[in-house]
Amino acid sequence: MTDNTPRYSLTLLGLGDMGTALARTWLAAGHRLTVWNRTAAKAAPLAAEGALVAASPAEAVAANGLVVVCLLDDASIGSALDGIDLTGKDVVNLTTGTPAEGRARAAWAEERGARFVDGGIMATPTMIGAPEAGGYVFYSGSRALFDTHRAVLEVPAGARFVGEDAGHAALHDVALLSAMWGMFAGISHAYALIEGEDIAPKDLAPLLSEWLGAMGFFVGNAAERLTSRDFTSGVVSNLAMQVTGTGTMLRTAEEQGVSTELISPYVDLLRRRLAADPDVYGGEDTTGAILLLKR
Ligand code: NDP
Repeated sequence: MTDNTPRYSLTLLGLGDMGTALARTWLAAGHRLTVWNRTAAKAAPLAAEGALVAASPAEAVAANGLVVVCLLDDASIGSALDGIDLTGKDVVNLTTGTPAEGRARAAWAEERGARFVDGGIMATPTMIGAPEAGGYVFYSGSRALFDTHRAVLEVPAGARFVGEDAGHAALHDVALLSAMWGMFAGISHAYALIEGEDIAPKDLAPLLSEWLGAMGFFVGNAAERLTSRDFTSGVVSNLAMQVTGTGTMLRTAEEQGVSTELISPYVDLLRRRLAADPDVYGGEDTTGAILLLKR
């Protein structure tokens, strides 16, 4: 910290793996941090690094105008903060939750006279305070709060404000994580296929990475088609062909003695889209099947 860098004062509730990582970056940058954790012992190492340790959530909240919360889940926020005066506070919730939980917390905070921003952390604790790792946090809710505190919020990781709907940080967070799970499922299936064969996983690894990178074009392609609702122009891998190909994937799994449980749901979805009207949907790409997911 240079002499010209402003020194911020803030409170952090929650010193789990993520909270501790956040705390360390604020302390290392020379900011004045008050911490509270349900299990008090976790605050001791941070006290040695300069944190002020509050004996209760009420004391921690009273210490600063900016209160960052990083607890296990939404229920733990209620456990820590219900009944505590939040009048005039700026509450930034970095606890992972659903969009509805984010919106309900925003209403809860506003009823208590606080401004509120919800956050979704796209980083592991080791990526906090390490800009080169590329982690960042989605924020949504009060734009005024975000603008006021942006500089201090950007100390642990980059900040991306995604709108005043307090549910949208969680929605962005979960959309990205959900895509990641699908990718993990596909990678798991691929490795299962070669288990027991004379193909080393480490030899398949670079091929898989390269292929997944090449297929990443689907992200932007699907976005364009969902916007235009044109699922057929310029299609070079049509749904009828793809559905035939899914049979090959399922039979290969059978031959290799591998369960199809990770890939069957997506195969079923594509088949359902095609079966609804092969003449209409057979010429689409796979984007149109997304519409079947919406209940
Ligand atoms: P930890 O399990 O390490 O810590 C959980 C924290 O919540 C602890 O401070 C714990 O207190 C506290 N807590 C749990 N229940 C209660 C309760 N009823 N009342 C008060 N405090 C409670 O989790 P992380 O620090 O890793 O995660 C914190 C948040 O960050 C989560 O929402 C997580 O999804 C999110 N996150 C975590 C990432 C990660 O890789 N770790 C990545 C992205 C987001 P105590 O010490 O007393 O048990």
